[in-house]
Amino acid sequence: MDALFLCKQWLDECRSSHFMCWRYDGEVTRLPTRLIDIGHSSPRLFRTDNHISTIDYATLSHCWGRTKFRTLTNEALDDFQKEIPPEALSKTFRDAIHIARFLGFEYIWIDSLCIIQDNAMDWAVESNMMSHVYKGAQLNIAATSAKDGRGGCFHRREKNWHCQIASKSGHIFGCYPTEFERMSSNRGGMIRNHHNYLQRRAWVLQERYLSRRTLHFAEGQVFWECDQNPASETYRRGYPSKPSARGVLLTDFNLKRRYLSKADWSLIVDQYSRGELTESQDKLVALGGLAKLIADTAHDEYVAGLWRSEIETELCWSCPGYLPGYINHGSRITPYVAPTWSWASISSHVSTAYRDPSTKLFIEVCDIQLESDHVIPPQFVSRFGRITRGVLAIRCDLLCAGLLRSSGRVDRPVRDVKWTFLPYPCDDKLDGTLLEEGKSHPFNVKLDCTTLEEWQDRLLYCLPIREPIYYINNRIDGLLIEPTGREQGQYQRVGYFQVEETKLKKEDRLAFLDMARRETLTTPEGRSNFVTVADNRHGELGYFINLV
Ligand SMILES: [Zn+2]
Repeated sequence: MDALFLCKQWLDECRSSHFMCWRYDGEVTRLPTRLIDIGHSSPRLFRTDNHISTIDYATLSHCWGRTKFRTLTNEALDDFQKEIPPEALSKTFRDAIHIARFLGFEYIWIDSLCIIQDNAMDWAVESNMMSHVYKGAQLNIAATSAKDGRGGCFHRREKNWHCQIASKSGHIFGCYPTEFERMSSNRGGMIRNHHNYLQRRAWVLQERYLSRRTLHFAEGQVFWECDQNPASETYRRGYPSKPSARGVLLTDFNLKRRYLSKADWSLIVDQYSRGELTESQDKLVALGGLAKLIADTAHDEYVAGLWRSEIETELCWSCPGYLPGYINHGSRITPYVAPTWSWASISSHVSTAYRDPSTKLFIEVCDIQLESDHVIPPQFVSRFGRITRGVLAIRCDLLCAGLLRSSGRVDRPVRDVKWTFLPYPCDDKLDGTLLEEGKSHPFNVKLDCTTLEEWQDRLLYCLPIREPIYYINNRIDGLLIEPTGREQGQYQRVGYFQVEETKLKKEDRLAFLDMARRETLTTPEGRSNFVTVADNRHGELGYFINLV
């Protein structure tokens, strides 16, 4: 239990002297609609109406797990306001309440007890307020090593002995037994080695980023995370600041949260897409609070996980499944959570597009239509919540049909896939005689969620998106799309491709572009696949498609 005294010391020091951690102080934040009053012996639900934002409260980050447990429902609302029944308080909740009380809090916010779980409207409104809930809290308590409500915050652990020796000059040296030193370097200081069940939960990412300070109750020890001086029981006064190899390893709890900006979005998506969701329908919602925070400072429009001002570039995300040694186990999430052009439509880890300011674009996104959930009233509809439809109207210079043909074994992860161009008009019932010899080009293909085997010799469309002009590794990248068959000119994304100059000679890259230009739908039959053919603003012919 002496760890809690250390926690109190960290909290007091942070609140009183860490100027870097006062970032939300003074900012008027809305209180959560409900809090749990823990000032009495039996906790009860408390409605915060008419209370101003001066109430200090803690929040809890926890894994729901697969075991069923009692949550707040419409029916239980009155009872919960009198007293939260013991069966709704799991070990994790009881531990969190104990910690919060010890640290001097009279209120705590726990999602399953403060949001009415069987009320779609309440859930939509409250999940939309998530950024306020975590930003407004003085402390976030994370049950980091608990797989579910039975895990709790406190864990049995071996006693680690150490002593301190003071030199004449006043330097203090810590001495640890060999075993403990090994533990602290390989395990003790690094949260990821502590059965970090919480980290696998996608919701937790924004809870960590939005909270001003978090106490992680991990299996081996407690970690303190704040902007100014993250610490752990091993490093009570903070991590070694020298950028030694070991120091770098130890600082994985030093999350960059201050001045979070759009430039951090790639890293956020990278981390977020590795997380797991109990409800895959929450894919965009569980990141909404963080996106809202960035949108407020970036003055950019958030579009289903991407940003409007650079949307053409951002469309070039990929599933890293086809790198040698990796298989992509992802799938397109059903029922619908996001359009195929958004990485949020995929259940697995994704890589965002690299940025290059001097990129030549072959497409222009002219219009974006997003439709949100109709369950909630219009004033609560938000671009940061669930969406039900998303259409990009794209003007493109190049779009050409072709076949994917693997040059190696199709059941293996492949990098080199041949793309074979077809003459027009093209026919779905293709035979080899239609293919022109000598017109195939190696492609680096990353399909979104299927194996190449399924796409072998299938008719797809290649949509080149951009060509970095001064990039050291000249390349062209774009999307593989196919008609939905539902509306004329409507396509869905199936994958991503790259033509790299390191694989081709420069002339070949240019030849690829020439060919793409030549083969872009030049015949009336080919054009009929498009919605419109019109002049662009430079007086050149442009083709318009819808990507859904
Ligand atoms: Zn601090």
